[in-house]
Amino acid sequence: MIVSRCTCRASHLYAHLSKPWGCLDMARPSSDLAAFRDIFLRSKNIAIITGAGVSAESGVPTFRGAGGYWRKWQAQELATPEAFSRNPSRVWEFYHYRREVMLTKNPNPAHLAIAECENRLSKQGCAVTVITQNIDELHRRAGSKNIMEIHGSLFRTRCMSCGHEAANYNSPICAALKGKGAPDPDTDDARIPVQQLPRCEQKSCHGLLRPAVVWFGETLDSDILIRVEKVLDSCDLCLVVGTSSVVYPAAMFAQQVAARGIPVAEFNMEDTPATMRFKFHFRGPCGTTLPPALTSVFNTGALRWYIMMIYWLTIKRNQHG
Ligand SMILES: [Zn+2]
Repeated sequence: MIVSRCTCRASHLYAHLSKPWGCLDMARPSSDLAAFRDIFLRSKNIAIITGAGVSAESGVPTFRGAGGYWRKWQAQELATPEAFSRNPSRVWEFYHYRREVMLTKNPNPAHLAIAECENRLSKQGCAVTVITQNIDELHRRAGSKNIMEIHGSLFRTRCMSCGHEAANYNSPICAALKGKGAPDPDTDDARIPVQQLPRCEQKSCHGLLRPAVVWFGETLDSDILIRVEKVLDSCDLCLVVGTSSVVYPAAMFAQQVAARGIPVAEFNMEDTPATMRFKFHFRGPCGTTLPPALTSVFNTGALRWYIMMIYWLTIKRNQHG
């Protein structure tokens, strides 16, 4: 979901994020895992910003980019207040389909490494906070507890009448959507009457429910942005994982941390517009690059031993060659 601006209450954050970066060192970031691990093992407050790349490795479709269509549309055409107002049945079919797809997906090694890291470090008095743009709850399912879902969740609803928000894991979410939502371009709209779409169960409300996600053109929740700001201001290490760093203001979060001299490590399939601002960059699938980066102290020893062995063997080979 793209946000074009922050809410008024969070405007100070936006101003903070918009500072120039003139003082930054623009040298190519390091991909030295041992150097990253040295910093990681000394860190007390770690912020981990995650994006669509982490979900993509679990096979979660984003309906964006080449081939990313649901029927004839991409997410940015359906995930808007205007689309919902015009055709709530179609938009609910789209979200019903996405919810049902998630029942067939599982957290991948990147999600699991983050959750295991939080669990392990919390016992040592350290904090790990996941700030995610993803709405699929795979971090939660992997076991992460300290999560800020800045774009909401597929598994939460909000009432259009009374504003009540609630978790909702029903499958299907309502009887009329059962068997609906097929993604093929030839599928006709189900044209479900609005009274049969998901409705609020608060006493005497019965208002129309919508997915509690941030749609294109909507603002991020100011309360969550303030909590995010606190985490970013207090972290001593920041990881930015599987995100293209082009969706604002989330894209600015890691750059804000880097600008105050805190090490930031990017884990991504490719360079991003922000890569040169970071201390570390680890290229590749984050399910492959993240587990060795976040593993326990014991494995660090093993890693050092392995690196020393390689070094020693290389010297020996050179001596004999
Ligand atoms: Zn309601």
